[in-house]
Amino acid sequence: MKWKKKTIRFAILAGLVTITAIVISIQLVPERVEVEENLNELAVTEPIETPTLYGIDMTGLTVEKNTIKSGETFGLILDRYGIPSLAVHKIVTASDSVFDVRRFQVDKSYAVLRRNDSAATAEYFIYEKSLTDYVVFHLQDSIWAKAGVREVTVKRREVAGVIEGSLYVSLQEQDVSPVLAVRLSEIYAWTIDFFRIQAGDTYRVIFEEEYIDDSIFVGTGKIIAANLNHMGDDEYAFGFLDSTYGTYEYYDETGESLRKAFLRAPLQFGRISSRYTQRRFHPVQKRWKAHLGTDYAAPTGTPILATADGRVIRRAYTSANGNYVKIEHNSVYTTQYLHMSRFAKGVNVGDRVRQGDVIGYVGSTGLATGPHVCYRFWKNGQQVDPLREKLPDAEPIAESIRPHFMAIMEPLKEELDALTILKTRNREVASR
Ligand SMILES: [Zn+2]
Repeated sequence: MKWKKKTIRFAILAGLVTITAIVISIQLVPERVEVEENLNELAVTEPIETPTLYGIDMTGLTVEKNTIKSGETFGLILDRYGIPSLAVHKIVTASDSVFDVRRFQVDKSYAVLRRNDSAATAEYFIYEKSLTDYVVFHLQDSIWAKAGVREVTVKRREVAGVIEGSLYVSLQEQDVSPVLAVRLSEIYAWTIDFFRIQAGDTYRVIFEEEYIDDSIFVGTGKIIAANLNHMGDDEYAFGFLDSTYGTYEYYDETGESLRKAFLRAPLQFGRISSRYTQRRFHPVQKRWKAHLGTDYAAPTGTPILATADGRVIRRAYTSANGNYVKIEHNSVYTTQYLHMSRFAKGVNVGDRVRQGDVIGYVGSTGLATGPHVCYRFWKNGQQVDPLREKLPDAEPIAESIRPHFMAIMEPLKEELDALTILKTRNREVASR
């Protein structure tokens, strides 16, 4: 077998060399038509490359693409291609462990590969589960099914521009996925207030995009480096792998983390329903007392996030606090989250948590009138109002890996600085 393959490869190579030689010699001839004719002739006698689709050699096959319509079943579709119900039954049984055909979804694409014979026999059926994942069903003779994955290639891309209305719109005008704007807002969440971004601010970003078949966009990859110039100030972000946690962290050009040690709130969405105060009328106990926490109202089940890295030191229930979790962040700071409907899976005393990890879900257990999380914050053993505290920055890059970081950062910074800011279409239109 191997020997055969090698011979074929050699033949292909030899063929290619011949073609190249022919093309070079023919290029001297003025008529182009002749070149194509010659190439076609050669292709018939000695196929130089067989096109493949879904990993299938397409020689002698043609493809028909379609989408699953409402009410259509595997059996109905195959019936149209002349596959009898008995055969459909065999195919379904054979493919059972690979894919359950009852899970076909309306609007998903499928392809049928038919033989170039007089009956146009349907040979393969391919269901596209997603842009990258598909299932191949072989419909004839030896019936089988197998899952396939399209190879994703990562391309590096650079983009730079001036913000007119919003970063989102400006990026869209440069044919960049809005996901990039979301990622940037996450990276800069602690340093730039994205609601205050204004016309004239600029962005320069080096990032990755994922493609299949080299041309079909499937997703935004990681941001390698970025510069946002907000009101004349350069804010750099350089991605660097944190080997301790295996996460990608962002630092500025001096190695300072772009994160703050604490999130502003333990919820992504929600509103403050009661602030920290020395004196408030307690809604349940109906008397004046201090409220040494910040209440965030949100629907039951909303994820509650650890506001900083730390270690779980309590996970308990009391009649006043309900289900609650207490996290010690370091010798100075401790936080507590009350009234949870339930704890997050796997959050136990002694566990290390990372900032943003889900530790539980909003509820109204304990003394509470409605679903909310009461967020409590200790500094050196004293309960304080985190909204009034100047909170510390996250740890800068460790000294031991700083030289490595600088070696990666410096050329990226040069590359960013060299990117030309393009005027967006809006401005061009406006200036006309
Ligand atoms: Zn409270």
